[in-house]
Amino acid sequence: MNMQNSLVEFSNTEVAFAHMSNAGLSKARLLFRSFNFPGLLTLGPPMASVAIALGFKNLIKNTIFEQFCGGEDIETCNKTIDRLAASRIGTILDYSVEGEQSEDNFNATCAEILKTIVAAAGNSHIPFSVFKTTGIIRFALLEKMSKHASLSEQEKEEWQRGVDRFNKICSYAEEKQVRIFVDAEESWIQDAIDRLTEEAARRHNTKSAIVFNTIQLYRHDRLEYLKSQIVDATWFLGFKLVRGAYMEKERKRAVEMGYQDPIQPDKAASDRDYNEALKHCVHHIEKVSICAGTHNENSSRYLMELMEEKQLKCSDERIWFSQLLGMSDHISYNLSNAGYNVCKYVPYGPVKAVIPYLTRRASENSSVAGQMGRELSLIETEIKRRKIAGVKA
Ligand SMILES: Cc1cc2nc3c(=O)[nH]c(=O)nc-3n(C[C@H](O)[C@H](O)[C@H](O)COP(=O)(O)OP(=O)(O)OC[C@H]3O[C@@H](n4cnc5c(N)ncnc54)[C@H](O)[C@@H]3O)c2cc1C
Repeated sequence: MNMQNSLVEFSNTEVAFAHMSNAGLSKARLLFRSFNFPGLLTLGPPMASVAIALGFKNLIKNTIFEQFCGGEDIETCNKTIDRLAASRIGTILDYSVEGEQSEDNFNATCAEILKTIVAAAGNSHIPFSVFKTTGIIRFALLEKMSKHASLSEQEKEEWQRGVDRFNKICSYAEEKQVRIFVDAEESWIQDAIDRLTEEAARRHNTKSAIVFNTIQLYRHDRLEYLKSQIVDATWFLGFKLVRGAYMEKERKRAVEMGYQDPIQPDKAASDRDYNEALKHCVHHIEKVSICAGTHNENSSRYLMELMEEKQLKCSDERIWFSQLLGMSDHISYNLSNAGYNVCKYVPYGPVKAVIPYLTRRASENSSVAGQMGRELSLIETEIKRRKIAGVKA
């Protein structure tokens, strides 16, 4: 399939929700409506943990967990992987456990990430793997390394163990020929993450882009960073382009500690740099592969236009669109239906351990944050459409 982008209609809810039954849609409507009211999950991780201790695990599992997560382990994600694959959408297994920052946990997380690489190897339904550096290296240590602070002997050894885990994951990804995203995190630890990722990319991206860094365009310095990376590299580059997930935290810390806010002055500036980054990467597509990690319709449309201008096929392996499971299905399903490469982050892990991830989804989908209106109105449109059309499924 190689359709013109003008034929992709994100407002087509019939395509967007074809994978959901009437009952499933009603359930999702109830869930998104519930985010409007203060509840256990919107009150944050401590209250959600209390809910689990009180025996509400199944309630959470059958509602918000089911909407946003694939399962409790890789095995139980298979149903979701198959369901997405039936619509030509790839899965990115995202081990979303945010636990105690201990060496044991880092080793366990590293072992789990290696398992996601095994699951992805040779499996076209799982086109990428992903990990967060804070899952395998202590946050405070990444902060020290980003500040170029001096380390004690003990910290030097700890750092080396973390670097070994990081490099083991990237080497294994190359060995298994699985492309891997390194997620971007808070600006005050990102410098250390960038350096680790750049070195890994230099080592493993000699024949194609295997290790992908993530660029947050809500930071005013990132477009320049991206451009400098592209100028300097004689190897292949991979970038996941996102706007950024930690805006409030970033702004608050900058005010409290009295340094220049790393975030763009307004949303329009983030949007402008995001689209500029897409353009710059597409113009250097000979050595740059990208994944547009976004729920923004304009940016997704703009990327389709850039591809058309450059006469790239919709299915060009160097360009992917990606959304989170349970969100923006109208973008994912309409793009894949038109022949573009699409994948979804499919978070997984024990219910209790993915609570921080779920509470972020709940608060971002509340009416205060604004996303709720988007998701809910699409679901309501499809419910109405099915009623009028007399769809019984
Ligand atoms: C597949 C995928 C992978 C992701 N990986 C990462 C990751 O590794 N690291 C990470 O940090 N995030 C990641 N994200 C989250 C992402 O950064 C955004 O938070 C989220 O996708 C919302 O942005 P958007 O592009 O979808 O669109 P929109 O809804 O159009 O934009 C919302 C975003 O715009 C920015 N913004 C909003 N208001 C302002 C303002 N006043 N001034 C400046 N900027 C503003 C913020 O970044 C906000 O999140 C990922 C998202 C997806 C879909």
